[in-house]
Amino acid sequence: MKGPILTIVVPCYNEEEVFPETSKQLSAVLSNLIDDFLISSESKILFVDDGSRDRTWVLIEKEMAKNPLVKGLKLARNAGHQNALLAGLEAAAAQSDCVVSIDADLQDDIRVIRTFVEKYRDGFDVVYGVRDKRETDTFFKRTTALGFYRFMNKIGINLIPNHADFRLMSKRALDELFKYKETNLFLRGLIPLIGFPSTKVFYDRKERVAGESKYPLKKMFAFAFDGITSFSITPIRFVTFLGFLAVIISALAGGYAIVQELTGHTESGWTSIIISIWFVGGLELLATGIIGEYIGKIYREVKRRPRYTIEVDAFSNHNEGKQKL
Ligand code: UDP
Ligand code: MG
Repeated sequence: MKGPILTIVVPCYNEEEVFPETSKQLSAVLSNLIDDFLISSESKILFVDDGSRDRTWVLIEKEMAKNPLVKGLKLARNAGHQNALLAGLEAAAAQSDCVVSIDADLQDDIRVIRTFVEKYRDGFDVVYGVRDKRETDTFFKRTTALGFYRFMNKIGINLIPNHADFRLMSKRALDELFKYKETNLFLRGLIPLIGFPSTKVFYDRKERVAGESKYPLKKMFAFAFDGITSFSITPIRFVTFLGFLAVIISALAGGYAIVQELTGHTESGWTSIIISIWFVGGLELLATGIIGEYIGKIYREVKRRPRYTIEVDAFSNHNEGKQKL
């Protein structure tokens, strides 16, 4: 009996410090699954080097030479986590029945990959890994992340709380995902939209095995902002609402000023003028900024630029030789 072909996709950006350990542990998990006949022996781990500036790709190549479970894809430049992941998913989907995506830093509990596969075999198309506890993340990261999920849900974006990009997807679900052609990719917002049967698996999130977070504060905010503006026009509506409010307040204040003027109380004035200038000016800047954000997004979308560029593909044809035999 031959099980489904599983590919584990791991985006890596400057991960030379964790790569050896990650490769070792994932290989162990994969070969156990193969030995237990849960998945096909053609299953692989696909490392996607996202234009790293360190020795990550060299390490991947070395590992490929001695470990038949490991394959690599090298992107020509740093395309960003989401795009690197997409590159891996697209390559993997072409020759797998299901694909697991996971970060390179082993923060996610790789033992639950077995549960993912079992759920897949039970008929689920998407299995979300959900972090049960986040004690190892900093207080700041935990609270901002929680606030982010709450805010997203409030403005109508359906996210699975505490789920990042650790999940299994069936080939059928992936093929649907690839129909979403947006340049500003926010996978964890898109995948719930697909709507195929899905389930959650809970696990504890651990500390990064080595190296530093590749998501410094700046990237984290950009990511959150991207997530919001890719899925929701609520911020634009909010600005419109603020604009209305400002107009009403100004009208009231204006009426008051006119009455003051007509009744001869024309002193003062400076305060209200200065306040209105600042208030309306601020509002306008805010509005322009938010609208500009969306226009920037439209600009990037209409260009339809490729989301990533593959420089070396050491994965796609790995089965060709075998099929000929
Ligand atoms: N990553 C990537 N490209 C980037 C930034 C990050 O492929 O431009 C990868 C990184 O190597 C890791 C995953 O994305 O496998 C998540 O990054 P990290 O663990 O640093 O994020 P955090 O867990 O701190 O949110
Ligand atoms: Mg991490």
